[in-house]
Amino acid sequence: MKAESPKPLVFADIDGTVLSEENSYHATKPMMEQILDRGATIIFCSSKTRSEIEFDRKELGVSDPFVSENGGAIFIPKDYFPFSFPFSKETPEYFIVELGTPYSEVRRKLIGVTSAIGIEILGFGDMTANDVAEETGLPLDLAGLAKEREYDEPFKLLNGDHGLMAKALETADLTLTSGSKCFHALGNTNKGKAVTILKTLFARRFDEMRTYGVGDGGNDLSMLDVVDTPLLVRRKLGGRNAYLVIWRNLLSMI
Ligand code: MG
Repeated sequence: MKAESPKPLVFADIDGTVLSEENSYHATKPMMEQILDRGATIIFCSSKTRSEIEFDRKELGVSDPFVSENGGAIFIPKDYFPFSFPFSKETPEYFIVELGTPYSEVRRKLIGVTSAIGIEILGFGDMTANDVAEETGLPLDLAGLAKEREYDEPFKLLNGDHGLMAKALETADLTLTSGSKCFHALGNTNKGKAVTILKTLFARRFDEMRTYGVGDGGNDLSMLDVVDTPLLVRRKLGGRNAYLVIWRNLLSMI
């Protein structure tokens, strides 16, 4: 990257985008390292929990802000921006901008709405870590982290109509979205809303920037809609390695 080039900001989904269908980042890790070496910032925007993304960031050597649970919250390391900005709460490590509805409320509303219209679901909150491991293919320790939910409930639709459910959830101020592995119910937020807030913050730090978005699911469309260069992994068309083609494309642009 040339010194005068705009700062590249890469907003990246994790499941099915950084991770293969077998939950491995063996193939993408070297490319992510090259992207970081070229001076880019990688901001994970995932349906995963804070604990899961912290694990992935450590493994991949990424220390930039991240978005958990489909836009539930933005986690900004405390020493990251050299200016102050509004946040909802803080921990010793992060300023947290909350956009979602608390998990207990999402669960309560979700159970109320689905039982009222006779739709059967099985949420992560109904499952043990063993069940989640079996359902997602995650190792048991990571399945435990996947259950540490704060804003979003992933679930399987056991019977009933998806469209009918989306409408019913809307009346309860919940959003229905789909990720690489499950449906998700959450409050009135999405990845795009979180990315828009982060873009505003980054614009205060860099005179010029170029934003890229990489994702593979319905829950990524709001994010892809607010970046300069959206890159959609089309596994149905490109097969199981379609995600690698997208990362190679991205590398050629940065
Ligand atoms: Mg995905």
